[in-house]
This record gives sequence, C-alpha cells and structure tokens, in this order.
Amino acid sequence: MSETSIQPPPEAEGEETESGEDIKPTDILFDCPHCGHNLAIDYRGAGLQIVCVECQHTVLVPIPEGMKIDDLDLSAGELLTQLFQTRRMLLKSEQRVAELEETLVSVKARRTELEKSRITTLHRCAELVGVCQLITKYQGEIAAALTRMQNVIAEEQQR
Ligand SMILES: [Zn+2]
Repeated sequence: MSETSIQPPPEAEGEETESGEDIKPTDILFDCPHCGHNLAIDYRGAGLQIVCVECQHTVLVPIPEGMKIDDLDLSAGELLTQLFQTRRMLLKSEQRVAELEETLVSVKARRTELEKSRITTLHRCAELVGVCQLITKYQGEIAAALTRMQNVIAEEQQR
C-alpha cells in the first residue's frame, strides 16, 4: 500500500502548498472509490473534485466530520474559487440527473412497448391453441367418416 500526497487542483490552490510525499496531520486521508488507492489531500481541498493519481478518475474529496468553514482559513478569493467549483459540480450533477431522467423515461416507454407486444403474443398463442383444438376435434370426426366410407366401399365390393 502506497500513500501519495496530492495537491488540490490549481483553481483551488490559493497559496503555495507544501509539495512532496509528506502527509501532514491536517491532511484529509481517503481511499479512491474507483481503485482504492490511498489518497491524501490538503484539508482545504475538502469537498472539491480531484483527479486520482492512480486511475485518473475524478473523485470527490470527503469533508471531514465536524469541519467548519472557519477551519479553512481561506481568503475571500479562495472561497469564491471554491464556490465556483461547487457550482460547476452542481451544474454537472444536475445535467447528469436530467440525462438519467431522460433515460428513465425512454426505458419506461420501452418497457410499456415490450409489455404490449407480450400481451399481443399471448393473445396470438391463445388463438393458435384454439385452432389446434378445433383441428383435433375435426380430426376425430374425419377419421370416423373415413372409416364409415371404407366400410361402405367394402360392403359394395363384397356384393
Ligand atoms: Zn483511483
């Protein structure tokens, strides 16, 4: 298991942060939800999106329990940067929700279609079963009639 210290994205970086592999006690430590890689990020990256150094997936930095905005000790500019980033994320999430809702509607429509065609198929099967039953019924009568005809022919031949 390796631990890697990563920096907040450039737009979240108000001041120069310490670089290198050192993990500070204030760092937020978490596992990448995609690859499980141990990630460590400066506490000011809480709630931001970062790119996992291992799998390159975008991951959300967790906000530690009980962390308050005062703890961040950020300048107004840094706060604005984070606000914009949060808004961009919100917008992306909303777009994703809209996409998923659209998909849901089309999946539901497809399901209704399939259900309809299933019912049609069931009706057709019932019709075919009816026809088969009719054929079976007449088959018996036809066989009986043929037997009678053969008997008549045999009687005529013997006379
Ligand atoms: Zn990862």
